[in-house]
Amino acid sequence: MSGYDSNNIFAKILRGEIPSHRVYEDDASVAFMDVMPQAEGHVLVMPKAPSRNLLDADPATLPALIATVQKVAIAAKEAFDADGVTIMQFNEAPAGQSVFHLHFHVIPRRAGVPLRP
Ligand code: 5GP
Repeated sequence: MSGYDSNNIFAKILRGEIPSHRVYEDDASVAFMDVMPQAEGHVLVMPKAPSRNLLDADPATLPALIATVQKVAIAAKEAFDADGVTIMQFNEAPAGQSVFHLHFHVIPRRAGVPLRP
């Protein structure tokens, strides 16, 4: 991986150095609640393997990761009685990335309720 800083906040969450509310975990990935949710039920899904973002990830790891994103999205939609799910993923600061460990935002959506900024 290029440009990966193992002191980023999600690496610390993975190592258990700072707390998080984990809602799913398997051999390759972890899902946890976003500390500043843009809507009720905003979950983050990240691989355990270190990669800075999607552009930097090993393609061989992506099928399992996207399957986890799908699983979490279905569960979050059900758990929060949502009408849909927004999935977002940012690569590098100009594109909106603020934590430099690959992650997907999974955000349950209700009709007529905009995302919080
Ligand atoms: P990005 O802009 O990098 O795609 O998203 C980073 C996300 O991580 C933001 O939605 C932000 O609220 C969330 N976040 C930042 N710090 C923490 C933290 O310490 N714990 C948790 N659970 N989420 C965090």
